[in-house]
Amino acid sequence: MQNKIIKFLAYDKKVAVMCADTTNIVEEIRKIHDLTPTVTAAVGRVATVGAMMAHLEMKELTDNITIQIKGNGPIGSIVENISLENSKQGNIRLYVENPHVELPLKTNGKIDVGGAVGHQGYLNVIKQNEVTNGNYNGLIPLVSGEIAEDFTEFFAKSEQKPTALALGVLVNKDGVKKAGGYIINPMPDCTDEEISNIENAIKNAKPISEMLDQNLSLEEIAKIVTGDKNIEILEQDLDVMYKCNCSRDRIERGILSLGKEEITKIIEEDGKLEAKCHFCNKKYQFSLEELQKIKENAK
Ligand SMILES: [Zn+2]
Repeated sequence: MQNKIIKFLAYDKKVAVMCADTTNIVEEIRKIHDLTPTVTAAVGRVATVGAMMAHLEMKELTDNITIQIKGNGPIGSIVENISLENSKQGNIRLYVENPHVELPLKTNGKIDVGGAVGHQGYLNVIKQNEVTNGNYNGLIPLVSGEIAEDFTEFFAKSEQKPTALALGVLVNKDGVKKAGGYIINPMPDCTDEEISNIENAIKNAKPISEMLDQNLSLEEIAKIVTGDKNIEILEQDLDVMYKCNCSRDRIERGILSLGKEEITKIIEEDGKLEAKCHFCNKKYQFSLEELQKIKENAK
């Protein structure tokens, strides 16, 4: 499952650009969670910004980012966890509360992502590092629930980073046709003229999913959305993979945390337990004997 993420520099290294084709991983997520087209569009945008953050925001291999989106729309919570496998490979896993939501298209023919996520709620980004004990928390109210606008606000408010961000998923009932995004970060020495060049270039560009559907390369897309024909490649062959780190041990700790009383109830009522990982749907079975052993250690 290969996706493509490339980092570029534009305007004489004064503008950092990242472009991503995340078609494969978004299709994989659609299949894992059996998503409707509406939820695929919403979750695919979240997955795409997460894939780019894996290669933009993470410095150490032990860094970990959790994104929580909770809007007042029918989708409910979306949780994405991002980690690094190595410097070229990010790992993401994702959970969505209501994967089967389907809304009518908006009058402009687009999928109503904002309506599905909800126009009110919050976006929370938690960055942790278990080794250095680093911990950062950036919480903002949702702007529109359309995801790209919400993350643009997050980068501006919580990270003081002026950012142009686009995310797009082209999906029909057969699956994901194209998914991708780009992030543009002007450095402080960027001139007003260069900034307005970029703004105009973005305004005149087609949506990212359409450009990918026309089989434009990420390099061609980077040139189009910056308005700079002399961009240089800073890093390529970056990828992202869907990978869950759940284990029997972790699930067992989860059962343990239910407490003695709750575990006793499960033993009396069912005599066994099947626990499912929300991120990958893997099932873990616990027998009566195993539950009794866990109960002995519970408080
Ligand atoms: Zn899992």
